Amino acid sequence: MLIFDKEERVKFISLSSGSNGNCYYLSNGTVSIIIDFGIGVRTAKKRLTEYGIDLSEIDLVLVTHDHIDHIKHLGSFAERFMKPVYATESLHKALSDHFVTRGKIGAFKRVIEAETPSEYKNVKITPFPVPHDGTDNYGFFIEMSGVKITLVTDVGAVTETVLKYASMANHLVFESNYDCDMLKGGSYPKMLIERISNGKGHLSNKQSAEAIGKIYHREMKSLLLCHLSANNNNPEIAYSTASQSLLSAGAIPGENITLECLPRGASSRMYIFD
Ligand SMILES: [Zn+2]
Ligand SMILES: [Zn+2]
Repeated sequence: MLIFDKEERVKFISLSSGSNGNCYYLSNGTVSIIIDFGIGVRTAKKRLTEYGIDLSEIDLVLVTHDHIDHIKHLGSFAERFMKPVYATESLHKALSDHFVTRGKIGAFKRVIEAETPSEYKNVKITPFPVPHDGTDNYGFFIEMSGVKITLVTDVGAVTETVLKYASMANHLVFESNYDCDMLKGGSYPKMLIERISNGKGHLSNKQSAEAIGKIYHREMKSLLLCHLSANNNNPEIAYSTASQSLLSAGAIPGENITLECLPRGASSRMYIFD
């Protein structure tokens, strides 16, 4: 068995999660990754500095899809810091057409293929397709330092593919976007409600919890709920819905699994993924 020293422990920080901007940091000390860049470069820099991390240490950026809350500052970051941007060919095409990334990524473009692991300094990265209304949409399955991490955000429905990659994770970041009653009884126009809940939008707390019931296994050590809606959800409801599902599956949050909601518009604590 490989033994990693303290420096090599896998660290995860959500720098922001939700429709106001998404950006996640993941590192094993050798390879540091940013997933999505929907917040300002200065904000990301400031939030990472609070953890003693310099934004220039990032090795690469992964992109889930071409919605503005995930790519708003991707172009400026890639250009300014000259960092490679990894995405599938079709997502790169969408990025080259999008007004916030147009003309900014070309020199830093790196192509990865759906459901095919790409290796970067012993870190394996596998994008997998998810149903959502971006031009091209992915979750990520990442293997580093003996730990398996899956990130699933902006997903309209839990497909077999989502279940497959989420079920392999020791640490799972999973969308829990809205509470059905809050969405239906809230102020959103009918068309927007339909867009969110039609299977190509976002996952409700209930859908997410149902999936978690199927996904949970004893090697899963954390479940971090992401992309919570500001208007149609609150962390207490999302937490308790997921918690009930974990309890039915035999896991006790806080005891044999970490269960937390990732904050909107602020960074999370630093998680150590062992
Ligand atoms: Zn989003
Ligand atoms: Zn989206």
